[in-house]
Amino acid sequence: MSDVAYLNSLLGVHPDFPKKGIVFLDIFPLLQDPVAFETLITHFLHHLTSVTLPKLRETTGNPAAKIDTIVGLDARGFLFGPLLALRLGAAFVPVRKQGKLPGKCFQAQYEKEYGVDTFEMQEGAIKEGQNVVIIDDLIATGGSALAATQLVQQSKGNVVQNLFVVDIEFLKGTEKLAAPSYSIIKAD
Ligand code: 5GP
Repeated sequence: MSDVAYLNSLLGVHPDFPKKGIVFLDIFPLLQDPVAFETLITHFLHHLTSVTLPKLRETTGNPAAKIDTIVGLDARGFLFGPLLALRLGAAFVPVRKQGKLPGKCFQAQYEKEYGVDTFEMQEGAIKEGQNVVIIDDLIATGGSALAATQLVQQSKGNVVQNLFVVDIEFLKGTEKLAAPSYSIIKAD
């Protein structure tokens, strides 16, 4: 079985959670298996070092260009972002739901199933011109990753890559995002 097939086989599928009609994909079983967790992190790191970084260096013409910051989305982006940041020698910055972060914050809104929600990021957490990778466990409509992109833009950072463990492909969420997206598991 391939790495990806193995990771896929561990994904939990929960019909009618958190409410009737929604099929919730649960990534936590992948973290309960240390081999799967390591494989997941290795796939992300491999993509960043073999695709994202060479492309960044080519497009900027700067052979020393690097990934400065990993931005993780509330809440399951926090499970992966800090690990990648440590391995890359980059900063980790959280995007949180409104009212959770102290100090001055940038804000961006995104559509939820019912109504609108607000994400926040601390002002000054990302410096002008920094190269940023956004990570979350799953992309569905792409609304939350787009709001995170807008927060990075308000900080004058450059989103160079989006990473997701799972992409619900038929929803075409990645098409909303200007930066390239990489996801390990494609679900439908
Ligand atoms: P989007 O904004 O792309 O429509 O939704 C993605 C956000 O909702 C992510 O933060 C993700 O954690 C959460 N989400 C939506 N559906 C699921 C799901 O089936 N499984 C998991 N693990 N997260 C989901």
